[in-house]
Amino acid sequence: MSALLESYAAGSWFRAEDEGRPLLDAVTGEEVARISSTGLDLAAMTDHARIVGGPAVRELTFHQRGAVLKAVAKLLGADKDELYALSARTGATLRDSQVDVDGGIGTLFSYASKASRELPADTIVLDGDTEQLGRTGVFLGQHLYTSRPGIAVQINAFNFPVWGMLEKLAPAFLAGLPTIVKPASQGAWLTEAVVRRIIDSGLMPEGSLQLLCGSPDGLLDQLGPQDSVAFTGSAATGALLRQHAAVVHGGVQLGVEADSLNCSILGPDVTTEDPELDLFVKGVVTEMTVKAGQKCTAIRRAIVPAAMADEVVAAISARLAKVTVGNPSAEGVRMGALASLAQRDDVRKAISTLRSSAEIVFGDPDRVDVVGADAERGAFMSPVLLRATAGATEPHEVEAFGPVSTVITYESLDEAIALAALGRGSLAGSLVTHDPQVARQVTLGLAPWHGRLLVLDRDDAPESTGHGSPLPVLVHGGPGRAGGGEELGGIRAVLHHMQRTAVQASPDMLTAITGQWTKGAAQQVDEQHPFRKSLAELRIGDTIRSASRTVTLDDIDRFAELTGDTFYAHTDAEAAAANPLFGGIVAHGYLVVSIAAGLFVDPDPGPVLANFGVDHLRLLTPVKAGDTIDVVLTVKQITPRASADYGEVRWDAVVSNADGAAVATYDVLTLVAKTLDNQEG
Ligand code: NDP
Repeated sequence: MSALLESYAAGSWFRAEDEGRPLLDAVTGEEVARISSTGLDLAAMTDHARIVGGPAVRELTFHQRGAVLKAVAKLLGADKDELYALSARTGATLRDSQVDVDGGIGTLFSYASKASRELPADTIVLDGDTEQLGRTGVFLGQHLYTSRPGIAVQINAFNFPVWGMLEKLAPAFLAGLPTIVKPASQGAWLTEAVVRRIIDSGLMPEGSLQLLCGSPDGLLDQLGPQDSVAFTGSAATGALLRQHAAVVHGGVQLGVEADSLNCSILGPDVTTEDPELDLFVKGVVTEMTVKAGQKCTAIRRAIVPAAMADEVVAAISARLAKVTVGNPSAEGVRMGALASLAQRDDVRKAISTLRSSAEIVFGDPDRVDVVGADAERGAFMSPVLLRATAGATEPHEVEAFGPVSTVITYESLDEAIALAALGRGSLAGSLVTHDPQVARQVTLGLAPWHGRLLVLDRDDAPESTGHGSPLPVLVHGGPGRAGGGEELGGIRAVLHHMQRTAVQASPDMLTAITGQWTKGAAQQVDEQHPFRKSLAELRIGDTIRSASRTVTLDDIDRFAELTGDTFYAHTDAEAAAANPLFGGIVAHGYLVVSIAAGLFVDPDPGPVLANFGVDHLRLLTPVKAGDTIDVVLTVKQITPRASADYGEVRWDAVVSNADGAAVATYDVLTLVAKTLDNQEG
């Protein structure tokens, strides 16, 4: 008997009390492992997540959480060959395994890097600017995101045992949530191997990752209003979860990513002479054969102009004929097995339903030549291409979750868009066209029905990631039938797990709460110029009030000459007088900002190492020759960089004229040494 997969629960590995049920190798039909959760204490798991895991994650800043994800990515990257070997037993070819394993690791790296670049060195995220709620500015509103003291439960599908887990884990972890992963039983041996490596490494705080192998019955009963469930799988299970009392009455957040009848549309502009025809055909064949078509984003419906249908069917069939099916480890095999014999039965059933309004034009669902394996013991199947009859409904309703696609024809672009919408909401769609008008019309028609759209032509093809690849930086999830959930999309997925709250308070209170100086809050001016203070000494609210300086006509002339910016408003008195906004010569905006820098800098070598930019520059009031200006610079935000001897300081800058009117407002961004010892950088 093969090994019983274990769950990682409440700080230790748990073996079920019974022998479990066998999980079979998709290629050979041999038993790979057994699975059961009998006797598993689910309440202990959720308690452990809440009491141990959650607080440990939330103690870390976003940057520290990102560093953990990066270390986990490196750890798994060092062990890929062993993971590929386990993946092959799910029926995957090496290329399929790379999509799953490397795709998962890449997602971790992407989130690690986004955390350090796009999230603060903090545990909260501010959303948007402050809103002034009263007349004088003593009462403000600020939206902010905080971590929920809850649990992220992740229920994954069988098709991506590694990516499916890591693409949900990374954003949840960054959001400060401990995760309980429940992999699909089929292929769970691969997820278990990944979790074991992570747990053994000790990289993630204890309790932040637990694994549930086997039935999750009763798990949702343990969840409450700060918890969430992210589900990927069949629409039927998704519907069951939607009706669960914990979701309906208990306030548990549920995200569903279910089956989806994704389409690819061939534009009416494409002829047999165009490279786009080949791109379309390749796209359909790739989506039918990668992971043996067991991808939630695969192209199920190939929507083509009626006049091109024969050519398209012939070209797809010719390519499919070259696809060798068999044991992923055998030479030349391009497509492996489905995940299980049961899965193959389901696909065959779906094809027989599709046949009521479509005819098979390539392949035989019941027969396939197989290399290096037994076609019946392994879950092998031929790619099957169908062609729909006019008015067919089944191809828009039935998902055959395997190497199956249906060609559907259209007469007009409006009809193509209407056909796409018959899928009632999809994860991904693509359009292959080289006509910009077609691109706009179809994209606007399809967008409300899709989570992601690829517009493919000869120009972007060299770098295109393809129709079916979800990317960590782009949203994954679609409306309607696709479940209505949304994952990935960079930091969007992190914020999705956090609670957004509108906080109303005074500027000083907001400064204290957010850790960022808020306009109107106290400003400290002391004897020491803030540019002489290291990062360790600087405080939020430290301020310089500069001396004032009069901007002369000579300044403006010399700036125009120096820079070559001789725009008439700075150089031609008569023309400038006719300008309705200025009514005379005005200083260049950049001159004002440059003079302001001259007013606030402290020139000698010191802890300030560099100025690396200016954000949100607004020029509010024109400065005329003879106007006097000054600047107030205040420390707004301090962000130490984990991997350097310096950090970033964001300063609020307000340049005013003698009447006290704001002339320019902006943020100055500097790099400042952490201590006076390392001020040389
Ligand atoms: P399921 O919906 O049965 O399973 C998905 C996940 O949910 C698995 O982890 C499964 O665990 C778990 N699960 C099953 N029943 C429950 C329940 N009552 N409560 C909580 N969790 C539950 O989908 P399948 O994996 O069987 O796939 C069936 C079909 O789903 C495919 O043929 C395809 O049409 C579609 N699918 C869609 C995917 C997508 O990404 N959109 C991906 C994969 C499949 P266990 O495995 O232990 O039963």
